[in-house]
Amino acid sequence: MNDVRRGLIIVNTGPGKGKTTAAMGTALRAVGNGLRVLMLQFLKGSWHYGELDAVKAFGDKFVMKQMGRGFVKVGGAETDPEDIRLVEEAWAEAEKAISSGEWDLVILDEINYAISYGMLDPAKVVAALKRKPEMVHVILTGRNAHPTIVEVADTVTEMREVKHAYQKGIMAQRGIEY
Ligand code: ATP
Ligand code: MG
Repeated sequence: MNDVRRGLIIVNTGPGKGKTTAAMGTALRAVGNGLRVLMLQFLKGSWHYGELDAVKAFGDKFVMKQMGRGFVKVGGAETDPEDIRLVEEAWAEAEKAISSGEWDLVILDEINYAISYGMLDPAKVVAALKRKPEMVHVILTGRNAHPTIVEVADTVTEMREVKHAYQKGIMAQRGIEY
């Protein structure tokens, strides 16, 4: 094993639980090694996520930003133009962050959903990933990763659902799901 640094493109996808939390685990590891981490959440959930408060302890070494709003109505013509605008805004910020030199790891949380809902052109994302600065690591999360993104990525993990507490009727647990 050599210690030559090379920025990786990592995809966490699939229907099982753990895509976002695995990205946050990697972020913690990165921050511990002195890397600066920015996490942009593309389609914010309806909850207040605990990690938003936890990362404040890291100051400007680990910054997390929610770029969307509560619920996103999906599906072709029904997609709210306001949500598309927010995704475009999030993407503009993501592109800037990747090329800025300010961040060593940029996490684009739920960007795969935004793409699979037709709110963001995968070709734009692939082009930006191809021209990213050599040293920058990028993690893209969300179900249904686009095949062109899988292709350009270095490491792709598909979370497979074996079972989920939700199926037993157990509601989302504070500290575990949000
Ligand atoms: P997490 O944020 O827990 O790592 P995730 O990023 O893999 O989950 P998302 O598709 O972003 O999953 O869904 C976010 C929320 O849905 C989380 O609260 C998560 O626990 C829950 N969830 C994830 N997978 C499942 C599933 N297979 N069935 C029911 N709920 C799920
Ligand atoms: Mg997620």
